[in-house]
Amino acid sequence: KMNTDLGQHILKNPGVAQAIVDKADLKQSDIVLEVGPGTGNLTTRILEKAKKVIAVEQDPRMAAELTKRFQGTPAAKRLELIVGDVIKLPQLPYFDVCISNTPYQISSPLTFKLLAASPSPRTCVLMFQREFAMRLFAKPSDKLYSRLSVNAQMWAKVDHVMKVGRNNFNPPPQVESNVVRLSPKHPRPKISYEEWDGLLRIAFVRKNRVLRSAFLGTTSVMEMLEANYRTYCAQMGIAVDDGPVEEGMDGKVAELVRSKVVKVLEKDTGFAERRARSCDEGDFLLLLHAFNQEGIHFS
Ligand code: SAM
Repeated sequence: KMNTDLGQHILKNPGVAQAIVDKADLKQSDIVLEVGPGTGNLTTRILEKAKKVIAVEQDPRMAAELTKRFQGTPAAKRLELIVGDVIKLPQLPYFDVCISNTPYQISSPLTFKLLAASPSPRTCVLMFQREFAMRLFAKPSDKLYSRLSVNAQMWAKVDHVMKVGRNNFNPPPQVESNVVRLSPKHPRPKISYEEWDGLLRIAFVRKNRVLRSAFLGTTSVMEMLEANYRTYCAQMGIAVDDGPVEEGMDGKVAELVRSKVVKVLEKDTGFAERRARSCDEGDFLLLLHAFNQEGIHFS
């Protein structure tokens, strides 16, 4: 009995399973991370092409079935099985390629985790439900454009591989699926993932809001930037003037940080009236650099 809470929809079309593995262009020396191997339809094909598979499966019953499938075969020694939730792994093991018929509940956290992986994998071939796949491709001003779109396009080249109808699965899911390939950019952009994502999280709280208000109009954001600024100054050995605070005024450091944010948005980038929904990854990179120049950090 399938556990659909865990997104258990087994791919029953062998042609599609083979096509997914073929699209990963595996080399004999590759270590492949497979998320949610289930009964092993993809695993068996990956093991034919790669050196090793590290499979992460949350459902112990599925894990047992997988172990049984390979028991006593020469491939068994090249399969490492981790039983658990891939999202909760503190760190992903080293891998060259990721292949997954992804349980749809974890599409978003898994994608972020793969994009954040450093060193970055050579390629990831992933099955997603159609709308999620469209979000990965969405461009500024598209309805589906989001923090996910910018992140995917910042760290990777995103290719569409194929559409997969719901009847290729058992049981069929509610929605159609697409296979996409994320090929992380090499060399990896030399910015901190946490800084970058920290900036995007602020900008995309509401993607239709102007950046001026996303930053300056949000007390929690300004408090966070102030705290980060103090940490930055401490690390750099810069003295901050905490001076006496006038009645009804923010502290001096808060005022200083505010003036820096105003300068970046109005003068350095001119992005104060822009909205996240219309900014591409190049715009956000410019913005991040301008903030960092002023000692403003997001992590
Ligand atoms: N790879 C198989 C196939 O293509 O037929 C099964 C794919 S099925 C869509 C998703 C699999 O991921 C299930 O076996 C499910 O138990 C497992 N799974 C669900 N959530 C998971 C998680 N957070 N971490 C690891 N595995 C998970």
